[in-house]
Amino acid sequence: MVHGGAGALDNVKDEKTAVRYLESIRGVLEHGRQVMELGGSALEAAEACASLLEDDPVFNAGCGSVLNENGQVEMDAAIMDGRDLAAGAVAAVQNIANPVQLARLVMTESEHVMLIAEGAMRFAEHCGMDLAPDHYFFTPDRIEQYKEARLHHRIMLDHDSSDEDSEDQKYGTIGAIARDPQGNLAAATSTGGIVNKRMGRVGDSPIIGAGVYADNETCAVSATGYGEEFMRSVISKTIADFIYMQEMDAVEATRAGIEYLTRKVRGRGGVIVIDREGRCSSGFTTRKMIHGWIEHGGESVARF
Ligand code: ASP
Repeated sequence: MVHGGAGALDNVKDEKTAVRYLESIRGVLEHGRQVMELGGSALEAAEACASLLEDDPVFNAGCGSVLNENGQVEMDAAIMDGRDLAAGAVAAVQNIANPVQLARLVMTESEHVMLIAEGAMRFAEHCGMDLAPDHYFFTPDRIEQYKEARLHHRIMLDHDSSDEDSEDQKYGTIGAIARDPQGNLAAATSTGGIVNKRMGRVGDSPIIGAGVYADNETCAVSATGYGEEFMRSVISKTIADFIYMQEMDAVEATRAGIEYLTRKVRGRGGVIVIDREGRCSSGFTTRKMIHGWIEHGGESVARF
């Protein structure tokens, strides 16, 4: 399963834009399936899908990330392996084309779970990762969005509305979760965060248990939405706990998780979930969430 952000998505009213998003999601899903057909693990599929979404400028991650208060891109990402709860995360990184790949390196090549800012970037160089120039990340839409947010002195989510409380919002983080034929689960989430955010602000996406979680015994989860609310409700681990402690399936746990998110913190956003049996589920409190899924032998499905 993958997602490309939640919100009212009023910017995809016209057919052409909607098709552009949905085709991108379907292409990414097909790629994920190919990775697994060639013997790749759930972890490899989740990383490959997240990387493709980071490369697509219409999504708020990697190229096309939103800008912070200084007009800079600062990105967060995480990846988790449900086999052994191994996890890697990076926060407030710049000039990294694929933050999810750096998160994977933190997981596999360091003794840590999270590296941030300059330390994370030094680690990237140490691992031989090329840094991308600033202009790679900036798109005209993001510059416009940033100017609008500055004009209204607002910290905005990924949409060109200046009204923060409006439903006219889109939280454009990306996420990918997978279950392979061996029953292994994995999850990845990557984001540019929120428009005009404070320098150094870190959202839920790289926080294990908040924006991302995977455990073979329960489920894989990736979240998108207003990060602060997702951190306070530890939403991804909460959904896993519903499965672990109350023996729910993905659909029931997603419903319970969304109810908890709404009741406790009035959370705005959504989640995608695959449980240990391979059942797929999604839930959101916003009007829409761009997401899709593909099953072994089946067609890819993408929707808002
Ligand atoms: N959750 C992300 C954050 O708060 C934003 C998003 O989902 O678009 O950084």
